[in-house]
Amino acid sequence: MPQPTATLEDLTRIMAQSPGCPICHYGRQAGHAFLEGLLYESVNDFGLRQQLVQSLGFCAFHSQETLSFPGARLGAAILERAMLKEALRRVQRQAPARRSRLRRAHGDLSPTLDDCPVCQHERGAERRAIEELLGHWDDDWAGALENVGGLCYNHLHQAIRLSPDKKRASQLKAIHQRLWQALIDHLDAFIRKHDYRFRHEPISDEETEAIREAILILTGERTS
Ligand SMILES: [Zn+2]
Ligand SMILES: [Zn+2]
Repeated sequence: MPQPTATLEDLTRIMAQSPGCPICHYGRQAGHAFLEGLLYESVNDFGLRQQLVQSLGFCAFHSQETLSFPGARLGAAILERAMLKEALRRVQRQAPARRSRLRRAHGDLSPTLDDCPVCQHERGAERRAIEELLGHWDDDWAGALENVGGLCYNHLHQAIRLSPDKKRASQLKAIHQRLWQALIDHLDAFIRKHDYRFRHEPISDEETEAIREAILILTGERTS
């Protein structure tokens, strides 16, 4: 039996603490730690500054997150100052586009998820976590994953794609078939009980919560 890695230990801890997609939670934690290190230690790193100038900073989510580290306002201020100067430089060079050229051109865009270095770091961490999970897959992992409500859509999609064989992919599909069908059933009941003919039937907490769970599956756990 291979030794559990640090990533697997983190995933075990995450699944014991929080419901919802453990890969999302793992990625968020990795991104948070990366951003913190970056603000405290790397604001003057030339390569990173170049990358941030290219992307005009972080995505909206991670830009807001820079404000969540009370001791890192100086680092955030140094970076935002550099990005704002770059934004001003681009605006000053910009001319009205001819109608035929009103297309998205490189360098004219706001930061996107593809450019943000923290998002890139999160995606790398998430992929490694999925590979670890698949590499050490057994009944205990399957049970633990089902207990927290499974993976979000995006990470399930990735996990199926990265599965080493069809058997592993079938197990993942079977777990999520059960979990998501149960949610669909709760949503069906919630919708049905809004019909005046069935209004006397009480709506359960699970049926009320099913909407929120469906949103988290489809969009990931980023907002939590
Ligand atoms: Zn996820
Ligand atoms: Zn980002």
